Amino acid sequence: MTANRRALIVGGVAGGASCAARLRRLDEEVEIVLLDRGPYVSFANCGLPYYVGNVIQDEAKLLVATPELFRKRFNIEVRTQNEVLSINRGAHEIDVRDLVSGRRYREKYDVLVLSPGAAAIRPPLPGIDLPGIFTLRTVPDSRKIREWINARSARRAVVVGGGFIGLEMAENLAHRGIEVTIVEMANQLMPPLDPEMAEFVHQRLKNRAVRLQLGDAVAAFEARAEGGLTVHTQKGGAFPADLVILAIGVRPEIALAREAGLEIGLRGGIHVDEHMRTSDPNIWAVGDAVETPSVITGVPELIPLAGPANRQGRIAAESISGRDSRFRGLQGTAVCGFFGIVVAMTGTTEKTLKRAGVTDFQVVYLHPGHHVGYYPGARPIHIKLLFNAKDGRILGVQAVGEEGVERRVDVIAMAMQMGGTVFDLEEAELCYAPQYGAAKDPVNICGMVAANVVRGDVKLADWSGLSGCSAFILDVRDSDEFERGAIDGAINIPLGQLRERLEELPQDREIWISCGVGQRAYYACRLLAQRGFRVRNLSGGYESYRAWYPQGNCAM
Ligand code: FAD
Repeated sequence: MTANRRALIVGGVAGGASCAARLRRLDEEVEIVLLDRGPYVSFANCGLPYYVGNVIQDEAKLLVATPELFRKRFNIEVRTQNEVLSINRGAHEIDVRDLVSGRRYREKYDVLVLSPGAAAIRPPLPGIDLPGIFTLRTVPDSRKIREWINARSARRAVVVGGGFIGLEMAENLAHRGIEVTIVEMANQLMPPLDPEMAEFVHQRLKNRAVRLQLGDAVAAFEARAEGGLTVHTQKGGAFPADLVILAIGVRPEIALAREAGLEIGLRGGIHVDEHMRTSDPNIWAVGDAVETPSVITGVPELIPLAGPANRQGRIAAESISGRDSRFRGLQGTAVCGFFGIVVAMTGTTEKTLKRAGVTDFQVVYLHPGHHVGYYPGARPIHIKLLFNAKDGRILGVQAVGEEGVERRVDVIAMAMQMGGTVFDLEEAELCYAPQYGAAKDPVNICGMVAANVVRGDVKLADWSGLSGCSAFILDVRDSDEFERGAIDGAINIPLGQLRERLEELPQDREIWISCGVGQRAYYACRLLAQRGFRVRNLSGGYESYRAWYPQGNCAM
């Protein structure tokens, strides 16, 4: 930017504040004005559920930077409670209303950056405007929920939506001693996960006395004569609640952009190029309001996460300053923790690949300990890795566990960003001491198991094809393990006896082999394949079977 020009930034939280601060570091001369309609800028939206839950007790801790700090440290003018109403692109002007005084005014720009975020969805259901039904997006939203809980000594809550924010809110309400029911339209919690991986989440929540109403949608809200609400569902459920949290997703805030005639993309977000520039060369846009291509499929996505919003803010600032910075694309790297478990993921899922018609991928399941088994306290991490069947390029990973989950997903996320393959995971040199990992870290094991598949050392069986399949199902666990629970119709020959009992195995049928978590089945696969049997590994063993068939019966 040339000296003495003017940059206006609309939205002063994740993307907008990052952009403003970066722009100042790159350009001392430009005049920067940050406008936000809310009372705060640069606040920690991600911390809001924990403020409701009283884990964060001091509201001031949510305010990462104040207007004063922006002025003193960065010479940036911040105008809170100033709403931008429209953009006049021809005149390079915005129309603003000061929400405190009611005054309307115009402001000229040389460059304009839009980071207006996304709005929580409030479906037009009967009773939706009744008091006690909340969404959570801002500090005032969280303050209102806290005040409501305190004033009514709330005991029962319904959380509508079982995604990231819904589950964080469920945990925080439970933390305050409130009984929680989660109503989720999908048949699973955490819709970004594949269903069998979500099963590990269901198991944990069932043990934590949270009531789950899956595969059902809210039909209406009704006020109760004695106070509070009843949440009615489409399947006839009626759940009493002192408060309701709506956490069913967000919609990009595109009104300003659309009314100004900026191009809107296929997914309904503001269209930007890789420099975060909109269809107007003087306007950039970042964060939840924009759509950007997936690094896996190249297809534009809307993934509302703080990391991309912050990085895009920086990239916009660099682009405004004449640097050739580019956004690499969205990978969807995310983590969420609740009720003692951690769910993390990056890249694509099996259901997304199938929806896109992609077939040349493979899936492996693992359940390694988060550190070596001999050191006390090892907890399993349930992992699903997706990769290209031919060249081993990593396509995505999902992991659920109690410890060390996000570290493994982060490593794989970085490998993916560098275009890595399962062979890179196999060879990755990672930290190890007994209390932190293993000499073969779960990331290495992911790589080894997947690389065995790509190299053709082992073939995988498809868990979804188990029910009604004609394969011979062989379980190579010890007999006491087998007796505690096994795949329907499986025959047990412990691995240690396999070489002596080969005559019990069919030559004319495929043999699908299972064990506890997949390791012994792999050994058995190698042994039998070299003896001429046609074998496949049921990846992840009995632990994966229980996730695929939670009713305990694959014939169901
Ligand atoms: P925002 O940070 O939402 O900022 C948009 C700002 O623009 C708002 O302050 C709004 O008031 C202002 N604005 C909008 N329109 C106008 C206008 N016309 N005039 C003036 N101002 C306007 N992400 C994670 O990665 N990890 C998490 O753990 C996580 N937890 C979350 C928990 C909650 C409760 C919420 C709500 C979000 C969470 N997110 C999380 C998502 C993350 O906060 C967002 O992806 C990120 O803040 C998006 O940044 P943004 O700049 O696009 O929008």
